[in-house]
Amino acid sequence: KDGMRINKYISHAGVCSRRDADKLVEQGRVRLNGEVVTEHGTRVYPGQTVEVDGDRISLKDFDYILLNKPKDTISTTDDPKGRKTVLEAAGISSDNPKGMFPVGRLDRNTTGVLLLTNDGDLAHRLMHPSYEIAKIYFVRTREPVKPHELDELQSGVELEDGLAAADRVTYIDQRLNKTDVALEIHEGRNRQVRRMFEKLGHDIVQLDRPKYAGLTAGKLDRGRWRRLRPHEVRSLR
Ligand code: URA
Repeated sequence: KDGMRINKYISHAGVCSRRDADKLVEQGRVRLNGEVVTEHGTRVYPGQTVEVDGDRISLKDFDYILLNKPKDTISTTDDPKGRKTVLEAAGISSDNPKGMFPVGRLDRNTTGVLLLTNDGDLAHRLMHPSYEIAKIYFVRTREPVKPHELDELQSGVELEDGLAAADRVTYIDQRLNKTDVALEIHEGRNRQVRRMFEKLGHDIVQLDRPKYAGLTAGKLDRGRWRRLRPHEVRSLR
């Protein structure tokens, strides 16, 4: 099938989410080639014009950047204190012409995979708890973590904002080092991993995220970034 459903077109123009685009259609605020759109299934073909509230809209140039976040960078688009942001680390100029932003947050000194995009619809879905995006964290603690503490992390630790449990917790290497723990979680509450370990009385000395939503740092060294490949973008949708 050719063309694009009108709600998708509106969200890909950066106006709002697909769901809200459906509401705009219901409210009679959308025109295709000058005619008010009445059917949700209406498709937009190349060369047609779409207006919302009388303003012509067009598809945005979406961009998807994978950053292996270095330490000492802030997960915001600009920092009033002038500290280095993840946008800067990903080579985006400070005027940010495409409106890029990080999908979720990593703490200032957490390293690892962070996605940056201007695709609000995709970002919204990735961040929504119901999509249960898997994330893997590598944690290094000051003191060795005991086997029963691994069990606790997996069965759930009571935090201020409720029980927090990992899907899977293992030592990264049994034989070597009981200070190095791998943790898979699908939630993304603020400082969740740090708070889970704090609750057990452990200090985290290093926190890295090697995997997010199936995206891995791979050959991307810390502090480097690259554009996602089309098949990677499709895998996120
Ligand atoms: N959990 C944390 O505590 N910090 C992060 O940066 C990410 C997850």
